[in-house]
Amino acid sequence: MTAARVPAARYPFRMTPIGRLAPSPTGAQHVGNARTYLVAWLSARAPGGAVKLRIEDIDSPRIKPGAADEAAADLRWLGLDWDGEPVVQTARLAHYEAALAELKRQELVYPCTCTRSDIAGAASAPHLGEEVTYPGTCAHRRAADALALHAQGKPFAWRFRVTSSPAYDDLFAGARHIDLTRSGGDFVIWKNAGTPAYQLAVVIDDAAMGVTEVIRGDDLVPSTPRQLLLYRVLGLTPPRFGHVPLVVGEDGRRLAKRHGDTRLSVFRAAGVTAEALVGLLAWSCGWQDTPAPISARDLLPRFRLGAIPPRPFVLTAALLKRIGYG
Ligand code: GLU
Ligand code: ZN
Repeated sequence: MTAARVPAARYPFRMTPIGRLAPSPTGAQHVGNARTYLVAWLSARAPGGAVKLRIEDIDSPRIKPGAADEAAADLRWLGLDWDGEPVVQTARLAHYEAALAELKRQELVYPCTCTRSDIAGAASAPHLGEEVTYPGTCAHRRAADALALHAQGKPFAWRFRVTSSPAYDDLFAGARHIDLTRSGGDFVIWKNAGTPAYQLAVVIDDAAMGVTEVIRGDDLVPSTPRQLLLYRVLGLTPPRFGHVPLVVGEDGRRLAKRHGDTRLSVFRAAGVTAEALVGLLAWSCGWQDTPAPISARDLLPRFRLGAIPPRPFVLTAALLKRIGYG
């Protein structure tokens, strides 16, 4: 049943995939990140493909010094490797600026002066599971209006005009369609702090790195149609996307500090072995019947995206104890 959800001919031209690991060094990597990285790495490596590493460090106020090295160390500890030098977003600002200029030239973006509370106040209340939809307050502006705003010293973001919502075929979950005009609306591609937003940077980078397969957490499902729009208007070839369920705590909520310290660096310091953690994750993904220790490399022949249960993995205190933590 689960196997049928993933099409057999994933690489029609026998191309091996180019996958990527894209840690944000805003905080330490935890068990939830580790599970997603393991899936992404195996999915690219199992058919003999490449893996790239990108450090998503453009979110400058939240970046801790040394966090990029720590993220790389966590990945290495897990037994994951990558090809070539890591790509670092803060070194690529000129590329994001060029893309912004192109979007302005096409009048696909406009300067938005709304604050968060402006938007929350003007938008109609979102329905369950929907995001707050930008009400279009600034959509009458043209790109050139930025000059006057700049002269007035008024901070503004650049918002992308959403006119359609591309559907796509998720490698894990099958056909997906989110109506962006009803959920989210026009979205920010350049922040009022003067830095590129995730949605733009990720597209420019994945395209430049030749990434053909993006495996990430399903919290990013709403980002995918936005990114597909950017690929389209920038004339870039999109990768295939697969979104896997997240790790949650016993209360069913996304793994966070309240669930205890599940940072990989803390596991390591507590003497948990990578094989013990990888074994637990492999069991959670349906690749082995028990949480017995195993290395990432030894999972290569067992990897099957379709074996992963289509629901969040509940990490319990008992399971942590089992791998020697707590
Ligand atoms: N840097 C993002 C994160 O750590 C991942 C973004 C992506 O996979 O597109 O959540
Ligand atoms: Zn606005």
